[in-house]
Amino acid sequence: MKFKAPVAKNQEYTGDIIDLTYQGMGVAKIEDFPIFITNALPNEKVVFAVTKVAKTYAFGRVVKFIEKSPQRVDSVNVTYTQTGIAPLQHLSYEGQLAFKQHQVVELLKKSHLDIDVAKTVGMETPYHYRNKAQVPVREINGQIETGFYKRGSHTVVPIEDFYIQDPKIDEAIIVVRDLLRRFHLDAYDETNNTGVIKTIMVRRGYYSHEMMIVIVTRTHKLSMVNELVAEITKALPEVKSIIQNVNPQQTNVLLGDTDRIHFGSPVIHDQLMGLTFEISAHSFYQVNPQQTEKLYQFAIDKAQLTGEETVIDAYCGIGTISLAVAKHAKHVYGVEMVKTAISDAKTNANLNHIDNVDFVVGKAENQMARWQEAGLKADVIMVDPPRKGLAPEFIEAATAVKPSRVVYVSCNPATLVRDIQVFMDHGYHVDGDIQPVDQFPQTTSIECVVSLVKD
Ligand code: SAH
Repeated sequence: MKFKAPVAKNQEYTGDIIDLTYQGMGVAKIEDFPIFITNALPNEKVVFAVTKVAKTYAFGRVVKFIEKSPQRVDSVNVTYTQTGIAPLQHLSYEGQLAFKQHQVVELLKKSHLDIDVAKTVGMETPYHYRNKAQVPVREINGQIETGFYKRGSHTVVPIEDFYIQDPKIDEAIIVVRDLLRRFHLDAYDETNNTGVIKTIMVRRGYYSHEMMIVIVTRTHKLSMVNELVAEITKALPEVKSIIQNVNPQQTNVLLGDTDRIHFGSPVIHDQLMGLTFEISAHSFYQVNPQQTEKLYQFAIDKAQLTGEETVIDAYCGIGTISLAVAKHAKHVYGVEMVKTAISDAKTNANLNHIDNVDFVVGKAENQMARWQEAGLKADVIMVDPPRKGLAPEFIEAATAVKPSRVVYVSCNPATLVRDIQVFMDHGYHVDGDIQPVDQFPQTTSIECVVSLVKD
């Protein structure tokens, strides 16, 4: 029997918005068939047009609002929603914080887990927070433009004010863009994999104000590079590092393997939790420093350290959590798979005169198994994995070491809830509640921290 969807493409319908998906789309139902509608919020009634019909759901866009949510912010710039830079900017900040808590609650409910979720901790000024930008460079109508990809596509929409980035970073991008225009440099052409300049990446220390500019090119040759460097440093005195990164591959991976330092140092510095950190172009560094300090404080509090514990910090990046925890512990072991991040971590330990830490390069799941075999007795294991969460082998080896506590910092509540269940199967349970901390205002990303203890 052929299933027939109750809605058809390009037709208009009226519906109540009953939910908001994890991607920030409003949900309406017609005969139980869900339609995901951009720019629609719960408690709204809208006329929508169906843009795409799939087997079990459809997509739509708002044609007319019949009733609006009191949580709607009307002064929105559609570019931000279109490009996905700020897909939740049409929802009040208070509404965003409630949305993030609600997402975690719903995920737990689906897994039949009875765990409390605290209110999301937000930030005072929920924009202009990002300390890092990476913007594609393309030629549009004969002119070099910098901007952001239209959602779900590779079309670049020119943008000057990125809204969620440090305004000094926006300014730097415009300076570089204007120089590329002035020197008639060649932007990358994604379709044909030709041209030169692919991406501009900028990092700026929140406390230090040190700036790093990385120009990602397809080719080794970058014309006018000396002139470019001279003009950038003249216009932007905060710049401490200008790097050309060569990435000839036609891929979604931003950086290639080759760096050419054209000016200054290969690293910049910033402070976090009162410590100084060296950050290189290839290393992960949290993008919202103000909220990161709150997040780390929760992680430290949840670890309940007395100064006597051996701690493992898995997925340690440049050692930010390890070093923040070191003064509360006897010894900290950090593992991370990016080599330059570990060399940053070692430098960072020296910079801060911290000597009760050891850092190793490796995959967390392999290194955890090695530590287990070597008989390392960790009292507390802290983890901060990427979106895909923990590998089952990691949890296997980690629980075999029998830590009294596991502190889990997560950037994806779906894998967090999955992993909590695996820890529960290994004799651990959640202590207290799950604490969401808003690291990414105006977006749908959710960061949480939770502590697990042995049954
Ligand atoms: N705790 C750090 C970094 C968290 S981001 C901070 O707060 O800054 C996650 C880190 O995990 C990244 O640095 C990434 O390079 C690293 N990573 C990803 N997969 C990994 C794996 N399988 N083993 C070890 N590290 C991994």
